Amino acid sequence: MKLILFGTPGVGKGTQAHILAEKYHVAHLSTGDMLRAAIKDGTPLGIEAKKYMDKGELVPDDVMIRMIEEILSSESAKAGFILDGFPRTVKQAEALSEMLERNHQTLDRVLNFCVEEEEVVKRLSGRLTCGSCGTIYNKFYKPTKVAGICDNCGSSDLRQRVDDQEETVRQRLRVYHQSTEPVLAYYRERHMTTDIDASKSVPDVTAEVLKAINGSRNGVH
Ligand code: AMP
Repeated sequence: MKLILFGTPGVGKGTQAHILAEKYHVAHLSTGDMLRAAIKDGTPLGIEAKKYMDKGELVPDDVMIRMIEEILSSESAKAGFILDGFPRTVKQAEALSEMLERNHQTLDRVLNFCVEEEEVVKRLSGRLTCGSCGTIYNKFYKPTKVAGICDNCGSSDLRQRVDDQEETVRQRLRVYHQSTEPVLAYYRERHMTTDIDASKSVPDVTAEVLKAINGSRNGVH
């Protein structure tokens, strides 16, 4: 199974990628998660990437292409992968095509997750994570029972990601339209995309995704 989950930030790619990776026993490759891990570890890559990420800008292509090249040639991606957050530019998409061709691999599908933009802003700018136990809340959709206190562990350390601040979310969306949306045209021209209505509940979106995957395996798009 080799899939790309595509769409604006906040459409739920990460949630679905996690579910699919478990179901198909393949690697969930989230470039955003990899970069956040590098920041946490204080590596030179993390220090460099943070400058871009905090402003809602894209990390340069050469850095990202090298990162994916390394992962795709590793043992962990041999059985297949769910790409979440890559490619984000046409240059990255072209580099990915070359890599796959070199490895005699083909993508199964590019799933394009669609959600209204204002909904995405609420999903992201409302997101809060407990710094103590990691439980994720949303001010609008899944608030804590007591304001500012984690339901799970009682901690008052509820954090907002720097890049989830509303102004930065809007910048991430501008960057998406400018640099990432053309990637969709790249895959549409190659008849590889299926649109997914990602405004529904998590199980309903998973059901639609599975239908799209099975349809594409039977040659139905
Ligand atoms: P995400 O968690 O996927 O929304 O990614 C968070 C941030 O990481 C993005 O806003 C970018 O700054 C950076 N990032 C993640 N993936 C890429 C990529 N493929 N190309 C460039 N920057 C990326």
